Amino acid sequence: MSNNRDDFRKSTIDTLARRAAFICSNPECRSLTIAPSPQDEDKYIYTGIAAHITAASEGGPRYNLDLTTEERKSIKNGVFLCNNCAEMIDKNNGIDFPASKLEKWKSEHEVWVHENLNKRIDVEGEQNQIFYVSSSQQKGGITAGIVNIGPKPRSLSSTMRSQLLEFLTDKSEVVTITCVMGDSESFSFASEIKEYLAKSGYKINGVNQAIFSKPIKGQEFNPDTLTIRIGSRQ
Ligand SMILES: [Zn+2]
Repeated sequence: MSNNRDDFRKSTIDTLARRAAFICSNPECRSLTIAPSPQDEDKYIYTGIAAHITAASEGGPRYNLDLTTEERKSIKNGVFLCNNCAEMIDKNNGIDFPASKLEKWKSEHEVWVHENLNKRIDVEGEQNQIFYVSSSQQKGGITAGIVNIGPKPRSLSSTMRSQLLEFLTDKSEVVTITCVMGDSESFSFASEIKEYLAKSGYKINGVNQAIFSKPIKGQEFNPDTLTIRIGSRQ
C-alpha cells in the first residue's frame, strides 16, 4: 500500500461506524450496513465505509491542501456511509458532494442516532417521514418515487423539517399547504407543518382543504409552485 494516503486508523473507523450506529449517514439512504452471515455463525456481512470528507491523498475528491496529515486522518474528516453511497460521493471526483454537504449529513445523522438511542426501530414510520418531490426538476437531492404510507398518524420528523428548510430557501415567497378535504389526519399533519413553517418565518397560504383530481398518498412537495400537498395516510 502506498504511503502517501492519509488513511484512517482502525480505531477511528470503528468509532465512526459506532457513532453512526452502522447506518449510512446519507439521509436519503440510511441503509443498515451490518448483518449476520446466514452460513457461518462466526461471521458477519459488513458493507459500511468510513469515507473521507476531504480526500486522503492529493488529487482525490474534495482534497484540502490546508489540512495537516493528522487532520486528514482524524475522525473529524470522516463520514460513515454504505458502500453504495461511498462510491456515489466520489463520482466525477466528488463535484456533486461538497465537504459541507457531507459534514451536514454526518452531524444530522449523529443527532438522529442519538435521538433514537434505546428506541424501537419503526421502519414503516420512517418511510412515512419523507416528502415526495412531485416536480421533474428536483431540488435537494430527494429521491422521487417513494410512496409514504404508514399506519400511524403522521408527525413532522426532524428529517422532514430539514427537508423543508432545504426546499424552501426564499422566505419572501409564499408556501401553499393543501390537505385532503374531510381527512382529519391529513388536516392535522398539514396544520403542524404550517405552524412549523410560520414559526420559522415563512409566509403560508393554507391550510387549504381540497379534493385532489388524482388522489395522492403520503406527502409531497412541488418546488415549481412551492406547494406542499398532504394526501391521505394510507
Ligand atoms: Zn447509503
